Amino acid sequence: MKLLQPSDVEEFAGGVFIHGGTEVVPLLRDGILSTETLVDVREIVPRGIDGTRIGAGTTLGELEADSQVPEALREACRLAASPQLRNMGSIGGNLLQATRCWYWRLKFPCRLHGGDTCHAQEGEHREHAIFANDFCASAHPSDPAAALVALGATMRTNGRELPVTELYRLPTDDDRDVTTLAAGELILELDVPQPEASTYLKAMDRQRWSFPLVGVAAARFTDRTQLVLAGVAPIPWALESPEALDQATPLPGTAYKLEIARALVRRALEAVA
Ligand SMILES: Cc1cc2nc3c(=O)[nH]c(=O)nc-3n(C[C@H](O)[C@H](O)[C@H](O)COP(=O)(O)OP(=O)(O)OC[C@H]3O[C@@H](n4cnc5c(N)ncnc54)[C@H](O)[C@@H]3O)c2cc1C
Ligand code: SF4
Repeated sequence: MKLLQPSDVEEFAGGVFIHGGTEVVPLLRDGILSTETLVDVREIVPRGIDGTRIGAGTTLGELEADSQVPEALREACRLAASPQLRNMGSIGGNLLQATRCWYWRLKFPCRLHGGDTCHAQEGEHREHAIFANDFCASAHPSDPAAALVALGATMRTNGRELPVTELYRLPTDDDRDVTTLAAGELILELDVPQPEASTYLKAMDRQRWSFPLVGVAAARFTDRTQLVLAGVAPIPWALESPEALDQATPLPGTAYKLEIARALVRRALEAVA
C-alpha cells in the first residue's frame, strides 16, 4: 500500500483519506476497507479552535478541553471512546466513522454491504435503531455528530459548504451510503454557533469507553430548542419535539432504548431550560 502525505489540497487524486487512523486502520486490518493508496490528510486539514470555527483536524481531546466550544459538543467528545482514542481521533474522522453493527463489521452480505437482507432485523439487534430501521437497522455511533446537528453547525469541504445535518442520508436500495460526501471530498472546517445553553447526555453499557445506546443533544437558542439523538437511527436523528418519540418503531430487542430516550430527553430539556 502506498502512503501519500500531500501538503496541498490539490495534490491528491483517489485513495482513502486517513487522519488519526483510529477507524481506518481497524477497517483495513479487518479487510472491510481496501485501497492501494492511503492519503494522510493531517498536513492539509486545519486543526484548532478559533471562536466558532473548528478545524476538522482538531482532536476530540482538544475539543473537550476548550471553553470556547459549546457545552453539548464538549460533553459529547468527553463521553466518547477513551482518552487515547480522543487524543488521536479527529472531529472530521469521527463524523465519518462507519456503523458498529456487528453483522456489517463481520462482513455479512447485508444491505449496507450491498446485499438484500438486514441480518440485524431478524437476528441480534440489542444496540440497533428505534427510528428509520426498516431498510438498515444500524444505529449511528457518533456522539459529536448529534451535538453538532443540534447546535446547527455547518461545514466547509474542498467543494462546498453545508449544514452538518446534510452530511447524512438514510441508505436506500439505489444508494447504500449514509453520507452525502462525494469521492475525494475532504472536510476542512466546521462553524459551530454558540447557543444560549446546550447539553449532551449519554446512556452506555459502561461509564467509559462505550458507544451510545442513546445519546441526547439539546441546544437552546433564542427562538427554539433543538433535540438530536445518537444511537437510535442509521444517522443522527433530529426530534421536532419530545412527542416525536411516539413515532419510534423499535425492534423487539431495542424497545428499552425508547424508555431511555424519553428519560434523557426530559433531563436534557430541564438542563437547558
Ligand atoms: C474502541 C473505540 C471506541 C469508540 N467510541 C466512540 C464513542 O463512544 N463515541 C464516538 O462518537 N466515537 C467513538 N469512537 C470513534 C472515534 O471517535 C473515531 O474513530 C475517531 O474520532 C475518528 O477520527 P480519526 O481521525 O482517527 O479518523 P480516521 O480513522 O483517520 O478516518 C475515519 C474516516 O473519516 C475519513 N476522513 C478522516 N478525516 C477526513 C476529512 N477531513 N475529510 C474527509 N474524510 C475524512 C477517513 O477516510 C475514514 O473514512 C470509538 C472508536 C473506537 C476505535
Ligand atoms: S443493521 Fe444495517 S449494517 Fe447491520 S445488518 Fe442490517 S443492513 Fe447491515
